[in-house]
Amino acid sequence: MPSRTLLTGAKLCLPSEVVSDAALLIEGGRIAAIGAASADFDGDRRDFAGHTVYAGFIDTHVHGGLEHDVMDATPEALAAIGQHLARHGVTGWLATTVACPAAQLDAILTAVARAMASPHGAPILGAHLESNFLAAKYKGAQPAEHLRAPDDAELLAVIERHKATIRVVTLAPELPGAMQLIAQLVAWGIQPSIGHTDATYDQVKAAHGAGATRVTHLCNAQRGLHHREPGVVGAALTLDLYAEVIADLQHLHPAVVEIAYRCKGASKLVLVSDALRGTGLPPGEYELGGQRTTLDGRVAKLADGTIAGSVVTLGRAVANCAEACNVPWAAAAAMAAATPARSLGLTDRGELVVGQRADLAVLDAGGACVATMIEGLWVSR
Ligand SMILES: [Zn+2]
Repeated sequence: MPSRTLLTGAKLCLPSEVVSDAALLIEGGRIAAIGAASADFDGDRRDFAGHTVYAGFIDTHVHGGLEHDVMDATPEALAAIGQHLARHGVTGWLATTVACPAAQLDAILTAVARAMASPHGAPILGAHLESNFLAAKYKGAQPAEHLRAPDDAELLAVIERHKATIRVVTLAPELPGAMQLIAQLVAWGIQPSIGHTDATYDQVKAAHGAGATRVTHLCNAQRGLHHREPGVVGAALTLDLYAEVIADLQHLHPAVVEIAYRCKGASKLVLVSDALRGTGLPPGEYELGGQRTTLDGRVAKLADGTIAGSVVTLGRAVANCAEACNVPWAAAAAMAAATPARSLGLTDRGELVVGQRADLAVLDAGGACVATMIEGLWVSR
């Protein structure tokens, strides 16, 4: 493997602008220089004329892809999802579960921890429990029979046992005992995320005060904005919370993405795929948490029409934000890399800046990923 790589010819999506006349030098797994290319460079030289180089995408909400799901809990499934994500420019992701029995969750988290120790493709940065502690009214595509109260001792024991693996737990803060759970999660070093919830504005504000840091898929499966009761959406738009956005142009109207961007800016919006088992596959029927979903090529739905997650890639989501939602390109890219990284406390990646990890996604003019680099090594070409 060459230890030095020079990328030339491509546009570079830097933190505040896209430039077209600079080269990117990679050394020792880090970005070593951004600027003029030297003619006598003796390492691995790649010309990406007509392409754009982004900081590698970080997806904090992934259920699966290519017929595999995190819930399968096998090394093969987790490796296949990691490789699939890497082919689409993702250089880190949170393995995301749906509501399930405690014993099953225990097995999944054991498998995730093992996969983190020997990564295939895009490394798993931890687990995101889109948990059992959700409101039935806003369960979305979550299996209702596995919803539990936030003080469920069996589940809490599993979460405590795997606290080093779990990064985010989505929960409904209006449930009895949710505030204690939020405080407990914070004490375990886990980020509480507000989602699948009928919470009022005041309840979200209280959850934020108790330590909640994020909102799961803004506007989807949560109490909307009313002019006398701003709800979860009004709280998410005004409080200092990270908010996930599914920018497949199906889950949210483009104007709603624009409103979210105007309210919160790129530093608080986290583009996520919420990608399902059917991602990367042709239209058809695929399983989610024991339920059948139908994928029409754009979005997956349950039999009753409930949207059940997306099949968007983060590269496509960035392009959607820039092309359809009036978000500047550099800001849209930050929402898929720098902001999710910062939201997980990772400061060594997410931007094309000298000294950052050389995690890169190279996209063609149509937004398709043609190459991915993780810590200076090509993982997909
Ligand atoms: Zn999800």
